[in-house]
Amino acid sequence: MSLTFPFTEAPENHQVVTIHPHVKWVRSPLPFSLAHINCYLLKDGDGWCVLDTGMNGKEAISRWEKIIAEGLDGAPITRVISTHHHPDHNGLAGWFCDTYKVPFYTTEAEYYYTRTFYAPKRSERYWESAEYFDRTGINEESKEALLADSNYSHMVTEVPGAFHRVVDGDRLKIGDYEWEAITTRGHSPEHLSLYCEALDMMLSGDQVLPAITSNVSISPTQAYANPLKDWFDAHDKVKARIPDSVLVLPAHELPFKGLHQRLQAVVDHHHERLDKIVTLCGTSINPQEITNELFDREMDEFQNFLAVGEVMAHLNWLLNEKRVSVCVENGVYQFSADF
Ligand SMILES: [Zn+2]
Repeated sequence: MSLTFPFTEAPENHQVVTIHPHVKWVRSPLPFSLAHINCYLLKDGDGWCVLDTGMNGKEAISRWEKIIAEGLDGAPITRVISTHHHPDHNGLAGWFCDTYKVPFYTTEAEYYYTRTFYAPKRSERYWESAEYFDRTGINEESKEALLADSNYSHMVTEVPGAFHRVVDGDRLKIGDYEWEAITTRGHSPEHLSLYCEALDMMLSGDQVLPAITSNVSISPTQAYANPLKDWFDAHDKVKARIPDSVLVLPAHELPFKGLHQRLQAVVDHHHERLDKIVTLCGTSINPQEITNELFDREMDEFQNFLAVGEVMAHLNWLLNEKRVSVCVENGVYQFSADF
């Protein structure tokens, strides 16, 4: 059985689509090849709670102003919930909280990641990052671009000054309905999904998407982490906690049914990639060379960074499983399955 998509048309511009009288769906524009994010509005007493805000930008803000002025019958925004710190999800959290003087809800790790990435960086480059990039064999253009300052602070408005901490298992009462918090690692440190048994719906953020797979990457700040293990654990956790019957409301693409099948498909996809990488490690090879073999399309510096980060996440998982070994030659990792 394949996934089913009850809503074939996504909202355009400032259009508000009613999924249920208490759950509305809007879209916010993104300046990437993935050109949108889904944001949801949950009826919260006399007003609406916003789940994920979209990225900072003039068009995004004017779209929200129009939605609030014309699409919600004059009802106010009551609070903002963020699934995780990525700028397409909480880029306007500060704008909402400052403009409407409403509280911000997210998990502790996601809140402090936002604060950290938003904070000014020290002026000199981090030698740890430079070493990480060198070891991956990443191409020189990518390395130079990535060692320059991150764009995070341009993609988000001023971070909310305080937050309500959401913990795994919490039951958030939003209007007439209760939503259970499920936190997961792998894509981000403490990603928040919400499940409502009464509505049989899941607000999945980037934890579950119907077609694209969320990025699971090594970053220079945690070069030896094993996020792919966290990601597999996350899939087990979601499958155990949320029934297959739910309507999944994801952060990208279309709402769908078929949660358990999609969870399995993503796990299968990563195992296929792991097997391919082991095959490529038949001869000694560095992470950038593996990336070039796996992704046979043109990528800009940032896409290449994400792709190399994904390859490193898979390599770290394989190292942990003792299916590959690594040594450093001339400052660059050489991975091998031949040992
Ligand atoms: Zn994300």
